[in-house]
This record gives sequence, structure tokens and C-alpha cells, in this order.
Amino acid sequence: MFDVIIIGASAAGCSAAIYLARRNINFKLVSFDFGGEMVLSGEVSNYPGLGQTNGIELAQKFSEHLELYKIKPELGYKVASLEKVGDIFSVKFNGSEYRAKAVILATGSHPRELGILGEKELRGKGLSYCTVCDGPIFKDKDIVIIGGGDSASEAGIMMNEIAKKAYVLTKNSVMKGDTSLIKKLQRCKNVEIITEAQTTKIDGEKFVSGVGYKDLKTGQEKFLSAEGVFVHIGMIPNTDFLKIPELKTNELREIIIDKSCQTNVSGFFAAGDLTDVQHKQIGIAVGQGICAALSCVDYLNKLSA
Ligand SMILES: Cc1cc2nc3c(=O)[nH]c(=O)nc-3n(C[C@H](O)[C@H](O)[C@H](O)COP(=O)(O)OP(=O)(O)OC[C@H]3O[C@@H](n4cnc5c(N)ncnc54)[C@H](O)[C@@H]3O)c2cc1C
Repeated sequence: MFDVIIIGASAAGCSAAIYLARRNINFKLVSFDFGGEMVLSGEVSNYPGLGQTNGIELAQKFSEHLELYKIKPELGYKVASLEKVGDIFSVKFNGSEYRAKAVILATGSHPRELGILGEKELRGKGLSYCTVCDGPIFKDKDIVIIGGGDSASEAGIMMNEIAKKAYVLTKNSVMKGDTSLIKKLQRCKNVEIITEAQTTKIDGEKFVSGVGYKDLKTGQEKFLSAEGVFVHIGMIPNTDFLKIPELKTNELREIIIDKSCQTNVSGFFAAGDLTDVQHKQIGIAVGQGICAALSCVDYLNKLSA
């Protein structure tokens, strides 16, 4: 039995853990992996105080900071269920059960799928959801990036240096998000942005051979030959294991929190990309992790008062 269980060992979960450790709270940090989406973030130039770094280096710094407080995350297993029985939270994974008075959920999110022909069949055969991970495989090849936000822009900027030609397909009339990123993308010589393009299929037998799309301006069906496809159309919160029916979420399945990172369920705090916070960034996840930890300490103090 712990005071708190933190689930997820990345930006939000690690920050929460450091704050709980400094307050001598009896807690456990459990996670599938260390660093989550942060290690897939590639170049990170916007984390205050560090200038230019990358997700892997930043995760390493988080790990060293945990070691400073002798925090040993329990890694390697996905939590199978989180439920509340009476006033106690029960977390089950790999045949074990941990129980706690409070929980901080920091399990982030995973990429949204297109749900079109060829996507499932060609996943890992030229189709990827992580340009940072798989982009370098497509050196001097033609590739297509699907998406119209920051993640697609970043993918385009990265592939400008690697691919022979990179197409960015967005169904919107303009790219959305960080204007400096969009400007940088527009300056990329090997990148062509195709707007108002609704992707309809991924073609290929053993490997990707191209992408079909509908030109929303003319209604015409078009095709781009490509050996690689990168899908960047948003993220889905990692919350499938939650068995707390009264927990409030929004239409994107993000957990609704208040300014204390408290959910509508007493003792249940959430932080990072799985929350309904508007912007998903490492710095924001860190801030929310801290906020959740401090609110959780207040909650525990009131319980024992
Ligand atoms: C391509 C890309 C580039 C990005 N670039 C930047 C950038 O330059 N700057 C920036 O600030 N942000 C960037 N981001 C966003 C940033 O990565 C996220 O905002 C940040 O990682 C969110 O942290 P988090 O702690 O909420 O979740 P995550 O980093 O997603 O971590 C979630 C953790 O939960 C664990 N977990 C998930 N499900 C379970 C389960 N069932 N059981 C146990 N553990 C589980 C995972 O293993 C992981 O450790 C980028 C993201 C992407 C995808």
C-alpha cells in the first residue's frame, strides 16, 4: 500500500516523482518505458535552460535527476487496469497489484491512425507514425507525410535533409500551428506542401509504393509514388486501461483536469499529454507533473488531518 502511485515515467511522471520524493511521500513510479514520447521528440530547442538538446539527452537528464533522489521506476509492463475500490486506487499489471490513497496518471498519448485502405497492412513496411525513428531509412527516396500540424511540419523539416522529395499532404487549406515551424517548412527545397488533399489509400504489396488522395479543390483522385509514408494526424490519450466510469473526459478522450491537475474523481490527479491542456509540450507536461504532485500532497495532508 502506497500513498501515491504515479503511472508513466516521462516528462510529467518524472517531475511528479521528484517533487513527491522531496516531500518524503511513500510512492511508486510504474511505467511501460522510460521517456515515452519525449525520447521520440528528436531535436528539442524549446525546453528552457537547455538551449539545443534532443529528446534522448533530455530523458537521460531526467533519469539522472531521479537517481539523485534514489527513485527507481518500475519499468517494462503496461498497466492493465486502474480502478477505485472505495477510497483506494488499485493498479494491476503483470499479475501484481499495487494499492494507493492517490494516483497521478501521466501515461501520455499515442498516434492517431488514418483508418484507410492499406494502412494496417503496410505498417512497418514503409508506413510509420514516427519520422524521428524511421525517417533516416528513407535516404534519397520519395516520401509522403500526412498531417497539417506541428508534428507534420517537424517531420517535413527533418525529411528535407534526408529524402529526395517529401510531400506534406494536409486536408486543410493551410498548415496549422507554430508559425516559425511553418515558415521553416515552406523554405525547405525538397518539400512540397499539398493542401486540401484527403488521403484515401496507401498502396503497396510487400512495401509502400504510393499514396492515393482526393484533391478537395477539384474532386479529382490523385496518386503520389513514394517508398515511405509518415502519419502525423494527432494523438490519442493512453487511457484504455482506466476502469473508473465516473472519470470525466472530453470529446478527444483527454482527461479533464482543473488548475490543480485534479480530475473530478477525488484523489485522482493527471498530468501531461493525456489531459485536456491545449498545448502538448515537454515543459507543459513538466509543469503539470509538478502541479499534480503538490496538489496530491495537499490532498494527502487533508486526508490525515
Ligand atoms: C515527433 C514529436 C516531436 C516533439 N517535439 C517536441 C519539442 O520539440 N518540444 C516539446 O516541448 N515537446 C515536443 N513534443 C511533445 C512531447 O514529446 C510531449 O509533450 C511529452 O513527451 C509529453 O510528456 P508526458 O509525460 O505527458 O507523456 P509521454 O512522454 O508520452 O510519456 C508517457 C509515459 O507513460 C508510459 N505509459 C503509457 N501507457 C502506459 C501503460 N498502460 N502502463 C504503464 N505506462 C504507460 C509510457 O511508457 C511513457 O513512459 C514532441 C512530440 C512528438 C511526437
